[in-house]
Amino acid sequence: MHLLKIIQQLLKTVTIARSCLICTSASNNAICQHCYNVFPAIDNCCVICNVPLVGQAKICGKCNTKKPIFNKCIAYYSYSYPIKQIIYLIKYNSRYEIIKYVIDGLILKLTDYYNSNWPQAIIPVPMFATSLLARGFDQAHILAKEILKKLQQPSIILEDSLVFRSKKTEPQHKLTIEQRKKNIRNAFSINKKTTYKHVAIIDDVVTSGATIIEITKLLKQAGVKKVDIWCLARAPL
Ligand SMILES: [Zn+2]
Ligand SMILES: [Zn+2]
Repeated sequence: MHLLKIIQQLLKTVTIARSCLICTSASNNAICQHCYNVFPAIDNCCVICNVPLVGQAKICGKCNTKKPIFNKCIAYYSYSYPIKQIIYLIKYNSRYEIIKYVIDGLILKLTDYYNSNWPQAIIPVPMFATSLLARGFDQAHILAKEILKKLQQPSIILEDSLVFRSKKTEPQHKLTIEQRKKNIRNAFSINKKTTYKHVAIIDDVVTSGATIIEITKLLKQAGVKKVDIWCLARAPL
């Protein structure tokens, strides 16, 4: 390679390493301070489903009317700018290396909440086999791995062979709430018997909740008593 080209390549690498992953402005950290400052951490939320709430309410109207089948949802961010854009980059631009830079808030929230009463296993929402082949990576699985790495709770198992996706579904974000429920109905199956009593399902984002509700139903039918949800972002109602 011509010397000039080598230098240009080196400069490019250095520039990339010193750019914010989100806005590409110069930054010594993976995500610049300006981007961190506008991350939409949820201040007040429903104590059950974690949906962001305005004011001082502790429980959302939906959970107040009827408690969800899962026991507790924990999310750190609201599904809005720039987290919404970050999740898009992760999923559709293969920028899954970003995941490890945006989970510290979630880790703190989980540690605060569980103290010593941790779930026995965490279960990433599974992808359909051909979708995984097409995408080449599984963001919920990567998220689960990164969470476990940072939590340092060796008793928690990353359980990825219990639940599987038995039906190919349309991407949920393109559908209405009613269509999402129909689309995801019977999309998952359980692979084997389980003795877990307490697990957490891991997903990047929870919007209508149709996917996690469907998996929770299966797990509870299989004898799991407590199913929590851990996700990076929760959509407002
Ligand atoms: Zn930035
Ligand atoms: Zn709620």
